[in-house]
Amino acid sequence: MSTRKRTLSGYKACKRCKTVMPEDAKQCPNCGSEEFVFKWRGMIVVIDPQKSCIAKRLGLEKPGIYALELVEE
Ligand SMILES: [Zn+2]
Repeated sequence: MSTRKRTLSGYKACKRCKTVMPEDAKQCPNCGSEEFVFKWRGMIVVIDPQKSCIAKRLGLEKPGIYALELVEE
C-alpha cells in the first residue's frame, strides 16, 4: 500500500463536519462553518444515513459527500 498523500484538487472539506464542497464555496452548505481544510483523503457518499452503518460509525446524520480524513498541515 502506498503511503503517499493523495489529495483532490478543486474541492475542500469543512473542518467541522467534513462535508466536501467546491473550493469556491463561501460557506459549508451543511453546518454553515467558514473553516475549511484543503487537504483531505478519502470520500464517502451518504445517501441514507439511517440505513448506512458506515455513516452511523462516522456519526454522519445528514445525506451528503464527506471526507474520510482531514490532513493536517
Ligand atoms: Zn460543515
